Order: sequence, then structure tokens, then C-alpha cells
Amino acid sequence: MADVIPFPGGPRKKKPRSQGKTLCKRGFHKWAIDQNKQFDVKQGKLVTIQRCVRCGFTRTTLS
Ligand SMILES: [Zn+2]
Repeated sequence: MADVIPFPGGPRKKKPRSQGKTLCKRGFHKWAIDQNKQFDVKQGKLVTIQRCVRCGFTRTTLS
């Protein structure tokens, strides 16, 4: 167990973007609340707009 081969290229500095996109495709978005739009005219209700910081996908949730 003493012979530990160092990782090629040294320690990883950044996470590859492809990993984030994969997560998005699987439905694991990184949601951030968009405070600019909090009123849904169609529903006539206050909603919270959430936007994925990785792919820009948006969703609305009732406040
Ligand atoms: Zn996403």
C-alpha cells in the first residue's frame, strides 16, 4: 500500500463542465432564486422563479 501513484496532472483544480451538464440532464439542477420575476401573470399568483446557474433552465414554484 506504500506505492501510491500520484494522480496524473496533479490535483484537479476545477470540475469539468460536462459533469454539470450531465447532472442537469439527470434533473439535478443547481437552482438559484431569480428575484427579478416573482409574479406569474398567467396564474395570477406570486411565485418564485428559480434558475439553474449551469444551464439556465428555469422553473417556478408557488411561494
Ligand atoms: Zn441545469
